[in-house]
Amino acid sequence: MRKIVIIGASVAGHNLAVNLRNLGNDSSITLITEEASVLYDKNKLIDFVSGAAKENDLFLTSADIYQNSNINFVSGKKVNLVNADRKQVYFKEKGSVEYDYLVIASGRRIVLPEISGAKKDGVFALNTLGDYRKFLTSIIRETVCVVGSDDRALNLAKAINAKFKVEVKLFSQRLFDQSLLVEGIEVINLSIKEIIGEGCVQAVKLSDGSAIGVCAVLFLESLKSNIEFMKNTALEISADKIIVGDNLNTNIENIFSCGSVCARKDNLEIIKSTDEVISESLYLSDVLIKQVKGEICQTC
Ligand SMILES: Cc1cc2nc3c(=O)[nH]c(=O)nc-3n(C[C@H](O)[C@H](O)[C@H](O)COP(=O)(O)OP(=O)(O)OC[C@H]3O[C@@H](n4cnc5c(N)ncnc54)[C@H](O)[C@@H]3O)c2cc1C
Repeated sequence: MRKIVIIGASVAGHNLAVNLRNLGNDSSITLITEEASVLYDKNKLIDFVSGAAKENDLFLTSADIYQNSNINFVSGKKVNLVNADRKQVYFKEKGSVEYDYLVIASGRRIVLPEISGAKKDGVFALNTLGDYRKFLTSIIRETVCVVGSDDRALNLAKAINAKFKVEVKLFSQRLFDQSLLVEGIEVINLSIKEIIGEGCVQAVKLSDGSAIGVCAVLFLESLKSNIEFMKNTALEISADKIIVGDNLNTNIENIFSCGSVCARKDNLEIIKSTDEVISESLYLSDVLIKQVKGEICQTC
C-alpha cells in the first residue's frame, strides 16, 4: 500500500486528504498539523473577536471525518525536518513517518518584525485560532495597535473598538476612505520602531520619534512560508514560495505542494483565495491518484 503524507491540515491539506478518499484512493493517508484543532474558517476569526461568531461556529469539520475515512490525523505535532532521500518526515516532538508521496500544504504565517520588544507579552502575530484565543483572554482596557493594510486589519480594528470600547490605532500603509472609518479608530501612516514595557507592552515608539501608550500590539502583515523543515533538501524556492509545475509537482521526485505555500514560476506574486486553494487541492487529488496508479510520471 502506498503512503501519502500531507504536511498541513488547513484548507489545502484537509480538502486534499478527504477528496483522495472520496475518489476511492486506498493509500495510507497521514494528515499532519501543528495546531491542536481540526480545520476551522480563518475568514471568521474577526467575527470571533467581535463576538458575532462563537468558537464552535468556526469549525468546518470534526475529527470523526478522519476516523470514518481512515485518515491518520496527527494534530499538535510540528514537522521540523524532511529527509527526501530516506522519504522520512521528522517531528519536533520525537518520532517520524515514512512516505511514498509527500505533499507540502503548510501555508504561510505572519511573522513578528525584528524590532526591540517584539517578544513582550501583549504582542501578537495573529495567525491561528490559538493566537486569537490568547489575545481574547488578555486584559484590554487601553488603546490597542493593529498593524496591517488590508480590509482584515480594518475589520479587526473595528471589532476590537466595538467589543472592548477602546481606541484602536491602525498602522497602515493604505489611506482608507474616511467613510470606512468609525470614531475611535485612527489610521497612522508611520511604522513602529520599538515596543516598550516592563515584561508586557506599555507603549510603542514610532518612526517620527513620538510614543503612544498601548496595551496590545497585533500584527496582521508580513507573511512567510512555513518551509523551514525543507532546509536540508534541494527544494526549489523562489520569492519565498515553493515552485510547482503544472501537476503541482516540485523539483524533488514524489514531493508535491498545494495551497498558499506554493506558486508557479510565472505567477509568484499570486495571493490565492480560499476557493482557489480548494480547487487546487481537488486538482492535486486527481494528479496523485494517477501518480499512484503509475499513469503519470512526475519528472517527465
Ligand atoms: C488570519 C487569516 C485570515 C484569513 N482570512 C482570509 C479571508 O478572509 N479570505 C480569504 O480568501 N483568505 C483569507 N486568508 C487566507 C486563507 O486563509 C488562505 O488562503 C488559506 O488559509 C490557505 O490555506 P493553506 O491550507 O494553504 O494554508 P494555512 O491555512 O496557512 O494552513 C497551513 C497548515 O499547515 C500546518 N503547518 C504549518 N507548518 C507546519 C509544521 N512545521 N508542522 C506541522 N504542521 C504545519 C498548519 O498547522 C496548518 O494546518 C486568511 C489567512 C489568515 C492567516
